[in-house]
Amino acid sequence: MKSTVTICHDASQTAMPYRQLAAFLPGAGIGGAGLHWSGVHFRVDAHRAAPAPLLRRALRQKLYPRRDEIQDFGVTYDELRPFFNKAEKVFGTSGTPCSIKGRVIGKESCGNPFAPDRFHRFLLPAQKRTHSAQLFAEAAKSVGYYPYDLPSANTSGPYTNTYGAQMRPCNFCGYCSGYACYMYLKASPNVNILPALR
Ligand SMILES: Cc1cc2nc3c(=O)[nH]c(=O)nc-3n(C[C@H](O)[C@H](O)[C@H](O)COP(=O)(O)OP(=O)(O)OC[C@H]3O[C@@H](n4cnc5c(N)ncnc54)[C@H](O)[C@@H]3O)c2cc1C
Repeated sequence: MKSTVTICHDASQTAMPYRQLAAFLPGAGIGGAGLHWSGVHFRVDAHRAAPAPLLRRALRQKLYPRRDEIQDFGVTYDELRPFFNKAEKVFGTSGTPCSIKGRVIGKESCGNPFAPDRFHRFLLPAQKRTHSAQLFAEAAKSVGYYPYDLPSANTSGPYTNTYGAQMRPCNFCGYCSGYACYMYLKASPNVNILPALR
C-alpha cells in the first residue's frame, strides 16, 4: 500500500498530495509506520492533554493567532494513564523516571522533570548514554538546562513482553528511524504483537 499526506495552506484551497516524501514516511504494509518509527516513547503530558488554558494565555499575549483552534483533548492524562502503562509493558520501554507518585526521585539522574508523574518505574533502565550524549548533557547542564534520558522503546536489555514476545538489547547500530529493526529490539507490531497473533 502506497499512501501520502495532503496539504493546503488555508481552508479555501483544495488539499494536494505531497509528491516527494522526506523523513516522515507514511505507514505501508503490515505494521504501518510502527515498523520504521524511531522508538522514542513519550507519554502525552498533562499540559498537552489539556492545553486550552495554556494556549488562551498565549492568545492573550498574542503568541497564538487563532481562537477557534483552541480546545482540550477529549480525555485527561489520568484517563490515559492505564493505557500508557499497558503500552510500555508491550513495548518494553526503557527510561529513567523523574517523579513517581508525586515523589521526585530522578531529577539528578537525568529523569525528565517535564514528564508527567508515574505510578511505576520503567520496565528497563534507560539506554546507555553515548559519548556524544554525555558531552551534550554536560554542556546543557553547565548552562542551566535539564538534559534527560529519552524514554525509549528500543530496549536497553533483554525483555519478554506481556504477549510473550522477546526483545534483545539494543546494539546501537543506528538504523532505527526509517528502518524496520532487524535485531528485534525496537518495539514494532511485527516484533511485539504479530508472534502472539500468529
Ligand atoms: C521515520 C519516522 C520516525 C518516527 N519516530 C517516532 C518516534 O520516535 N516516536 C513516536 O512516538 N512516533 C514516531 N513516529 C510516528 C509513529 O510511527 C506514527 O505516529 C505511528 O506509527 C502511527 O500509527 P498508526 O497505527 O496510527 O498508523 P500507521 O502506522 O500509518 O498505519 C496505517 C496502516 O494502514 C494501512 N492503510 C492505509 N490506507 C489503507 C487502506 N485504504 N486500506 C487498508 N489499509 C490501509 C497502511 O498500509 C498502514 O499499515 C515516526 C514516524 C516516522 C515515519
